[in-house]
Amino acid sequence: MSTPDSTLPTEPTSGQTTGQDPTFADLGLPAPLQAAVDDLGFTTPSPIQARAIPELLAGRDITGVAQTGTGKTAAFGIPLLAALDPRASVAGGHVQALVLAPTRELALQVAEAVESFATHLPGVRVTSVYGGSPYQPQQRALRDGVHVVVGTPGRVMDHLERGTLSLDGVKFLVLDEADEMLRMGFAEDVETIFGQAPAKRQVALFSATMPPAIRAVAETHLTDPVAIAVSRQSSTVSTVEQTYAVVPFRHKIGSLVRVLATSDADATIVFTRTRKDAEEVGAALVERGTAAATISGDVAQKEREKIVERLKSGALDVLVATDVAARGLDVDRIGLVVNFDIPREPEAYVHRIGRTGRAGRTGRALSFVTPHERGKLKHIERTIRTTLAEVEIPSPRDVSEHRARRLLDAVGTRIEAGRLDLYTRMLQERAGSASDAADAEGTSAPVEGGDDALQVAAALLALAVGDDGPQQRAAQEEHERERAEAKGGRTRETHRAERTERDGDRTGRHPRSDRDRDDRGRGIRRPAAGTRYRISVGHTHGAQPRGIVGALTHEGGLSGSDIGKIDIFGNFSLVDITRPLDDADMNRIGRAHVAGKALRISVDKGAPERRAPRTERPRTDRRPARTA
Ligand code: ADP
Ligand code: MG
Repeated sequence: MSTPDSTLPTEPTSGQTTGQDPTFADLGLPAPLQAAVDDLGFTTPSPIQARAIPELLAGRDITGVAQTGTGKTAAFGIPLLAALDPRASVAGGHVQALVLAPTRELALQVAEAVESFATHLPGVRVTSVYGGSPYQPQQRALRDGVHVVVGTPGRVMDHLERGTLSLDGVKFLVLDEADEMLRMGFAEDVETIFGQAPAKRQVALFSATMPPAIRAVAETHLTDPVAIAVSRQSSTVSTVEQTYAVVPFRHKIGSLVRVLATSDADATIVFTRTRKDAEEVGAALVERGTAAATISGDVAQKEREKIVERLKSGALDVLVATDVAARGLDVDRIGLVVNFDIPREPEAYVHRIGRTGRAGRTGRALSFVTPHERGKLKHIERTIRTTLAEVEIPSPRDVSEHRARRLLDAVGTRIEAGRLDLYTRMLQERAGSASDAADAEGTSAPVEGGDDALQVAAALLALAVGDDGPQQRAAQEEHERERAEAKGGRTRETHRAERTERDGDRTGRHPRSDRDRDDRGRGIRRPAAGTRYRISVGHTHGAQPRGIVGALTHEGGLSGSDIGKIDIFGNFSLVDITRPLDDADMNRIGRAHVAGKALRISVDKGAPERRAPRTERPRTDRRPARTA
């Protein structure tokens, strides 16, 4: 079951007998929703929209498998609004529609989109609820009455438990990015939430993939769902030009700087696998004069939102991010995605490059592949059934040329703007003195062969682009040597570079898979850096992550965003807490209870049997060592 490959806004869907692209008008939307779609400038539904909207309007449940950027929000958001009863009372938290999203960022984004579809539905209110932010405003909104709640499962559960949200009147339930939600450990919450909604409700479940766990959810909670799939490539292939370059590990930063310096993209996202790499790359760019910001799970939510805003507004052009931090990021200006590390999973690759080529624009993706990673590249190519084109990393000379060309492009406009007399006079004086000098030497030609004006202009260009001559030549020669080396294949140099890289993996300097996982918080449970604490409750006491977070936040006075990774062991648990705790904090937490047991807390000293062997590195790292 799949529609042909296509992109937003879209190409025709198969089976369309008219031979015309289906329009939103063909989908039979209620007038206020059609008006909203017109306002947004959506003319043609995307394939997932063209298939899902009619089914949902007809009251069916659906499962939708589609990648990021395929327009899923409107696919459920529009029918969800059509299903509401704007006259029925929603005060006291009796919402009519609930959308679950894995992260705060996605919840905000979806709520914003649903609001934009509801502009012609006066009185219909939408709100979002998520962790890491105070309850009160959310409670107030729910009490006053909202029709649609978009929330992370954790916070939705909290509101249900507090009685500030009721699902009794829910007509429409959506699981957005269901696979991600389960991966983040929300399975239990999702079950509970389904259990609290009326048996008669409509459900739309969206997921990038359909693993057995998601299939099971669909089988248990959906009624005779229509399965809709948009083929894997649809979100990317035709709008994103996919390229790769072979770059030895130690040349990656230099290569990245030159790629950015020669890119015409409005904005760029650079992806790294781990938080540490993101920070290092971000810092290296800033050091070399590229204004770049970094977002990883470590960045506080407020800060992250600010960064995304700056990226949207054009105040920021380069963002370095980990997969999870950038998940769902929807910024039209992104014209280039650089995979600083090639992702291991083809899924991640598709997600990453889906950050560009959005909203009908075209984009480019460039993946850095070290010589020994060609196998990974092949694996991705096979999975996405696309061949990536190999490109060369720009040389220092290319960078100068690019900069100079930009300056030259601006010359015409500058001449038109006038007021150049100061500079023409200076150049005339210079030309005069040059020819005087030439006369004095008894030669008639101006200095250094040929046209003095051209020489002067060339020197000015060189100065303007930062090409001082000798250094630039050395950089260019160095670049050419490196190229020859990479082409020549496995010289000793590249061997060494690769080995260092692999060693990095093996010694746990980059415990990649772990770190990637850490990067996801449980919505309110922000990822961990900071100090690892040991608390005195574990499996044997029936401790659950939610209970621990609840005790730490309610009684312990921490906020959800202070709490990172939680590992539960037999009779104790380890919790990463990202802000420093003083004695008062420790005392307060010590009085909290989980599963009826007082929560004694101490800094984790790290029993050796729980540690991966890492004798060579003292724990200078601000990040605590991970348990296996
Ligand atoms: P997904 O949830 O599948 O990742 P989104 O719903 O976030 O995708 O949509 C991606 C982008 O495409 C958004 O900027 C959205 O406004 C835009 N978009 C969605 N549907 C259409 C359409 N039919 N025509 C034009 N743009 C659209
Ligand atoms: Mg989405």
